[in-house]
Amino acid sequence: MRVLLVEDDRLLGDGVLNGLRQAGYAADWVYDGEQADAALKTEEYDLVVLDLGLPKKSGIDVLRDLRGRGKSVPVLILTARDTTEDKVIGLDSGADDYLIKPFDLDELLARIRALARRKSGRSVPLITHGEIVLDPAAHTVTKAGAVVDISPKEFTLLQTLLDNSGRVVSRSRLEESLYAWNEEVESNAIEVHIHHLRKKLGAELIRTIRGVGYIVDKSAG
Ligand code: CA
Repeated sequence: MRVLLVEDDRLLGDGVLNGLRQAGYAADWVYDGEQADAALKTEEYDLVVLDLGLPKKSGIDVLRDLRGRGKSVPVLILTARDTTEDKVIGLDSGADDYLIKPFDLDELLARIRALARRKSGRSVPLITHGEIVLDPAAHTVTKAGAVVDISPKEFTLLQTLLDNSGRVVSRSRLEESLYAWNEEVESNAIEVHIHHLRKKLGAELIRTIRGVGYIVDKSAG
């Protein structure tokens, strides 16, 4: 899952960025409203964490313009405690959730998971596919009840495929969901992760659609 963080406070932004990456998200970080605009126009994000008090262009204006372009990507806004009326304006302008600074990183991650669940139309937190159960909150995968040892990248890859089960997901879409701008990506990185997932979860789970991408077929149950 790819996340855009818009935050001009370097210390806070650094902490949030590290937290997001440790949780397995591909996260990009920009520092002002104009950079946010540019990023949102050129990349497809699954979620945006948006500070409202930003240089050059306010978070509210970034949000209004984003919704004005018809983009429905979930947006979680960050507001300072003394400007809580901003949260009302933010929600009215199309934000999906908000947090008041200072906030707990664990709470931010929990809200991100909740927004991701709502976006994919799941009200239950677990993703089940046959014998495989993926828990986005705990970041664990089990097969037939046994815990499978899985890396954060493999987890994100598997979740993206399961969220789109029955649909082919292109290799470039998978790369975007796994890697941020400044991360080095080996040309065969996706193939290597898929190889590991097949070894751990069964060769038949993920099908290769040659020249297009990968698909997990809808489970029967
Ligand atoms: Ca700010």
